[in-house]
Amino acid sequence: MVGLRGVLTDTEARMIFRQLFDSTSGTYSYLLASRHGGEALIIDPVLERVDRWLQLVRELDLRLVKAVDTHLHADHVTGLGELRDRTRCITVMGEHSRADVVSMRVAEGDRIEIEGLRLDVLYTPGHTDDSYSFLLADRVFTGDTLLIRGTGRTDFQNGDPRAQYDSIFNKLMKLPDETLVYPAHDYKGETVSTIGEDKFFNPRIKVGCGSQICLSRRGRHRGLEERRRTARALRAWGSSSSSTGISRDPLGSIDAGKSVQIPIQIA
Ligand code: FE
Repeated sequence: MVGLRGVLTDTEARMIFRQLFDSTSGTYSYLLASRHGGEALIIDPVLERVDRWLQLVRELDLRLVKAVDTHLHADHVTGLGELRDRTRCITVMGEHSRADVVSMRVAEGDRIEIEGLRLDVLYTPGHTDDSYSFLLADRVFTGDTLLIRGTGRTDFQNGDPRAQYDSIFNKLMKLPDETLVYPAHDYKGETVSTIGEDKFFNPRIKVGCGSQICLSRRGRHRGLEERRRTARALRAWGSSSSSTGISRDPLGSIDAGKSVQIPIQIA
């Protein structure tokens, strides 16, 4: 798998890095560039915040060339299409994505490059089957696969707790402990973690008695407003029930409260 580079290049050490927050959906977006006046890339932009993000791009004298989604988001409408239409940037997702808005599809081991910076691509399914993480020097953008003291739900959009287990334990948790973790969401006001911290303090990665790991299928109970946002986000993608794995009525019943016990060997 792709390894983390412990030593930053001069460019990486001086890079422009902004964490942007959408309070409605609790979504983090990330703006990256190697220098003022240079190329920029944004990860997981939210449609309603596009005006603000483009204003920031102008303020920092940047040129947006790529917009990337970690996966098909069901809790907010992506800003990829709007950013593409307004800046002619390249829209990027993993090769498993079924979204029409995507103009560049990447696979595990690929690189997403802009001037002076590169993201190494990791396929980390489980929350959805199109979930990817992106490594940049000393940090990893984990989407909803690994959250701060949490993990993404796996009970719809072709989620799979066993794939989630494999992505977390056999890919993300094998990165160096000091790797900074930047997720797509936080609902408690936290902004960043490290692999080492979450290895020990993430309550969703539970080591139970008898060498069992439990990854809950369900992240948290969803209120009516959240379910309405889900329906709207999926309609915006033009996603069908067959492609997302969600029930025909996205406001309808969703398999709740189940968890899966996965036997593991603990060294
Ligand atoms: Fe998600």
